Amino acid sequence: MPRSLCVAIATLSCVLPISASAQLQSSFTVGTATAESGQKATGTLDVPAGSDAATQIPVVVIRGINPGPILALVSGAHGTEYASIIALEGLISSLDPTQISGTVILLPLVNIASFQQKVPHVNPIDNKSMNRFYPGKEDGTQTERASFLITREVVDKSDYLIDFHGGDLDENLRPYAYWVISGDKKQDAVSKQMALAFGLDHIIISDDRPKDKSATKYLDNTAALRGKPTITVEAGYAGTVETDDVASLVQGTRSVMRLLKMLPGTPHAIDHPVWIKTLGEVTSPVDGIFYPLVKRDTFVEAGRKLGDVTDYFGKVIFEARAPVTGIILHICAVPSMKKGDNIANIGVIASKAP
Ligand SMILES: [Zn+2]
Repeated sequence: MPRSLCVAIATLSCVLPISASAQLQSSFTVGTATAESGQKATGTLDVPAGSDAATQIPVVVIRGINPGPILALVSGAHGTEYASIIALEGLISSLDPTQISGTVILLPLVNIASFQQKVPHVNPIDNKSMNRFYPGKEDGTQTERASFLITREVVDKSDYLIDFHGGDLDENLRPYAYWVISGDKKQDAVSKQMALAFGLDHIIISDDRPKDKSATKYLDNTAALRGKPTITVEAGYAGTVETDDVASLVQGTRSVMRLLKMLPGTPHAIDHPVWIKTLGEVTSPVDGIFYPLVKRDTFVEAGRKLGDVTDYFGKVIFEARAPVTGIILHICAVPSMKKGDNIANIGVIASKAP
């Protein structure tokens, strides 16, 4: 075990809730799901009707037989990032409450309308991204009301949080994690160990999220600013459910649970990951047809041509070039291109590890 990890685990024991001294755990409720010690319960977060329709978000509570922290796992804010949804579906059945110390709250599919209708990026009910309107609004549209409920029922009730994403239907993505920086050094040391324990070999140092608690936008940032060590993880791409992607998300979750002493064993932390300090985003200034020239995970120099956008007659009307030197974290996976759409995100490698 590297020395830094020993120190981190020592630090971590300070942040575990005091309830860890109790013998058997009392019951625990999220939404309509109530689990007693040693039980797994299913239910829903009931988002009431408002200016638009009501919805029900599935929730699972796995109450370990032994006391310990509360870990929230959330996926499917973007309902067509399938690998992350399937990974959490697998964890619902494979996590065994008799092996767990503490409690796991699982939200495997936040955005059901997106999943059912195969609409990427947004909730088709109100056309809003379900990861941009936190901490939500009780009297807002469906996405805002759902975000409000998730903040209250999941974020506020948890000690740690992992938000699961991936390449959407139109994104060829290589796996990576976000280490979410809150500004609290102690908390950030814990979330860094979570990012390392998860095991994905590229980690974005995410320190540019809004710091206003009433306008946190992202789920990870909402949890981080409420004092919960948080990471976001991304794997899977373009509608696929590859075994490797699902396995990396499942194994990463189990490894973080070992770090948090929620499962027996030691975490398998990534050694010397690639740290990404900033992102270069390329968007299209025109409508047209996209022809990529590079793949996900390619290292590109600034200025390298990433692809062409043509008009509907085949004439090149935009040459997409890398604004920075770095790694293609994701690139558009489909020919459809609309003005303002993302063409690629490039990760700029940090000059030294944080
Ligand atoms: Zn997403």
